[in-house]
Amino acid sequence: MIEGIAQRYTAVCQRIEAAAERANRHPDEVTLIAVTKTWPATICQAAYTVGMRHFGENRAEALAEKRQWFETAVAPAGSVTWHAIGTLQSRKTAVAAAYADQFHACDRRKIIEKLSQQVDANGRQLSLFLEVNISGETSKAGFACDRWETDTTQQDGLRIAAEQLLQAPSLTLAGLMTMAPWEADTAVVRHIFRRTRALADWLQNKLALPAPLHLSMGMTDDFELAIEEGATHIRVGRALFGERS
Ligand SMILES: *Cc1c(COP(=O)(O)O)cnc(C)c1O
Repeated sequence: MIEGIAQRYTAVCQRIEAAAERANRHPDEVTLIAVTKTWPATICQAAYTVGMRHFGENRAEALAEKRQWFETAVAPAGSVTWHAIGTLQSRKTAVAAAYADQFHACDRRKIIEKLSQQVDANGRQLSLFLEVNISGETSKAGFACDRWETDTTQQDGLRIAAEQLLQAPSLTLAGLMTMAPWEADTAVVRHIFRRTRALADWLQNKLALPAPLHLSMGMTDDFELAIEEGATHIRVGRALFGERS
């Protein structure tokens, strides 16, 4: 298993470097989050052994299980960063508040409110990405931003959530996250990523933030495009570990 993973990891790193080079960016600006969902916890050990340091899970319970096992069996707390990448139901926030370092799918203010209280009570810190729905597909989660360039209601919705987050002492605003439409043309996907980046620039400006916001976008099928369009965090599963069963 390790050999296959080592080869796939090397191949993904080379693709990241090539995409960064095309965009005149440094590959170190891109954090590779290895998405281990549906695989047993031991896959984290294999991934760690070949050099991966960021793990992502879409279910908070699975993240908690893998993290607890990993810190007992493989390496102490702090060796890797744990990313919760999937939508949270409001009754499931406690698990993420206790075990995640970064949360990428914050899609409503209620979740910010609950996470703020719970992370605070745990004496922890959590870094959040606000998920934005740029494509307008109804199947997608996220703050409605399909017409953000012209729709002040959409602008206000996102800005108010970001302001709420900035006021929470235990939370930090990492940036924006988006998902490209399934099976769309390259040009369509690129346009979604480009508009997400423009939205992050708009928000940074609006809130007078000192540094650019991070951009969590790009998965196995589109991470190179995402890097060309400014992604700082890519969430990759199948390219590293093979098809999920
Ligand atoms: C599963 C998942 C990924 C990774 O998908 P791959 O196509 O396997 O790279 C990325 N982001 C989220 C939110 C996911 O649920």
